[in-house]
Amino acid sequence: MKLVNHHWIPRDIVGGNLALDLVNTVSGWNNDSEDWVPDIASFLVWARTCRVLGTREQNEAARHAKDSPVAAERVLASVKELRFALWRLTDSLEHRKAAEPGDLTVIDEWNRRLALSEQVIVRGNKIDFAINRDISALELPGLRVTAAALSFLKNLSAARIKTCPAHDCGWKFVDQSKNRSRRWCDMAVCGNLAKTRQYRARNG
Ligand SMILES: [Zn+2]
Repeated sequence: MKLVNHHWIPRDIVGGNLALDLVNTVSGWNNDSEDWVPDIASFLVWARTCRVLGTREQNEAARHAKDSPVAAERVLASVKELRFALWRLTDSLEHRKAAEPGDLTVIDEWNRRLALSEQVIVRGNKIDFAINRDISALELPGLRVTAAALSFLKNLSAARIKTCPAHDCGWKFVDQSKNRSRRWCDMAVCGNLAKTRQYRARNG
C-alpha cells in the first residue's frame, strides 16, 4: 500500500462513525490503495480532525511519540491492524458475508485493552465508564475508536453501511438518509468526480 501524506480537513470525515472514519484513512481499498496516515504525526492530525483527540491531547501524544518513537510505531501498527479488521468486518456485514475469525480476534483484543483502561465514574446520577487518566495520550485514539466501533456495531443496522462506488475511493459511511438513497461518500467530491467522468466519457 502506497503511503501518502494527506492534508486532513474536516470535510474528509464522512463516515458518520469513528470506526468507519478510521477505515477511511485508506483511499481506494480495492484499487491502487493509498494509506493516508503514513506516520504517527499524520495519524494524530487525523485523530484531531475527527475529534477523537482534543488539541491538548494531540500535543501531548505528539510529545510522547517524540520521546518514545518505538512505542509510537507500536501504537500505529496496532491501530492499523484494528483498521484492517474493522474494514473487513464492516464489509462482511454490509455484504452479508461471514466474518473472518482473525478480524474478530483483533477487535476482541482491543476490547480487552479498552476494558482494562476504563474506570467506573458517576456522571449526573448515573454510573458510566471513562478512560483512566493514567492512559498515555498516544493510546487514546485506538481506545476511543474501539469504544465507538463496538457501540456502533452493536446498535446500528448493517443495512445502513455503504461503500462509495467511486473508482479509487471505497470509503465507507453510514447512510442516514430517510430512504437510504445516499450513494457517495461526499457529493461534492466523489459525486462530482463521477459526473465529470461520465460527462467526459459521453463527450469524448
Ligand atoms: Zn467516495
